[in-house]
Amino acid sequence: MAYPTTGATIVPIYQTSTFTQTRVGEHKGYDYARTANPTRSALEAQLASLENGDFGVAFSSGVAATSAVINLLSAGDHVVVGDDLYGGTYRLFSKVYARYGLEFTYVDMSDLAAVRAAIKPNTQLVWLETPTHPLLKRVDIKAICALRGPGQIVAVDNTFASPYFQQPLALGADVVVHSTTKYIGGHSDAVGGIAITSDPAIRESLKFHQNAVGGVPGPHDAWLTMRGAKTLAIRMREHEHNARLVADFLESNDEVEKVYYPGLLSHPQHDLAARQMSGFGGMVSFVLTGPQERALDFAHRMKYFSLAESLGGIESLICHPARMTHGSIPKEERERRGITDGLLRLSVGIEDADDLVADLRTAIEATALVRR
Ligand SMILES: *Cc1c(COP(=O)(O)O)cnc(C)c1O
Repeated sequence: MAYPTTGATIVPIYQTSTFTQTRVGEHKGYDYARTANPTRSALEAQLASLENGDFGVAFSSGVAATSAVINLLSAGDHVVVGDDLYGGTYRLFSKVYARYGLEFTYVDMSDLAAVRAAIKPNTQLVWLETPTHPLLKRVDIKAICALRGPGQIVAVDNTFASPYFQQPLALGADVVVHSTTKYIGGHSDAVGGIAITSDPAIRESLKFHQNAVGGVPGPHDAWLTMRGAKTLAIRMREHEHNARLVADFLESNDEVEKVYYPGLLSHPQHDLAARQMSGFGGMVSFVLTGPQERALDFAHRMKYFSLAESLGGIESLICHPARMTHGSIPKEERERRGITDGLLRLSVGIEDADDLVADLRTAIEATALVRR
């Protein structure tokens, strides 16, 4: 689509905070850039279409988008939350919004009876992530939506799967949230978030809070995210291709105790994953044999996998969830959820798969020697 004012093929970066009005209140739909900016509007339309949603509302980070969904609630409301979730979401709910009179109950969402039991008359929101983080468990979105009562909202954080592999709105969810920092942006160069819905009332409220609370992305970040999203499909196919090879390699290696990748036939929820998703994504978690400290030793020995927080970029990353992404969850709580000190998480990039496997093999051999 050419841009109407100049014919530019690519949406320009509107690096402006304000818009000149012809007469008081008369303008071309834009008056102040917190309220709306054309670059951001283009991003919102682009990402909504990827989820087959009617409306997108963009934010300066994934947690700001999550926060905007919580802004739909009021003090006294109750939220049912999946218990294997992004550490920053847990921190936002338990350390910030719990102070504002909201109540959160954490349940294993793969246990539908537990979810049903947790829903109360004042439950306004069910918040879930699938695949979960970092153990890559599956939650049956359709089944959870069927438990929803009148007025209750189901929101899905779809960051891990990306809209390429999973579309929660089509499965009945009311809102989808992404950290666009991850697969959607895809190049580890911009932080951002989006909430997508086809419900006009939810959209109104999200738009209101986007403007009232103000966590908006700047035009340059909106543009970078938009550029990244254009190649989402081809990147996701490569991520998945490489992740399968990595997961197969790890599963066949005697020095590896356990591999978490939903595409493995050994994964307990392989059927659900196959039904709900059109692919299994690029995230692989695993536990090595031997003492838990081996994970720390392993993590800094990689050549192609950078030791870093985040995920979803074209370059491979390795992370130690207990000390990094999930460090904000208390140790006992972490261990109860299976996030042990021996767990490692890979965001498999789109480099040559043989190089990635060789990198893992070398670090496995090096740390096996150290141990003996
Ligand atoms: C990173 C992440 C977030 C938070 O997004 P930011 O862009 O870092 O604020 C939320 N959910 C999931 C699943 C994530 O991986």
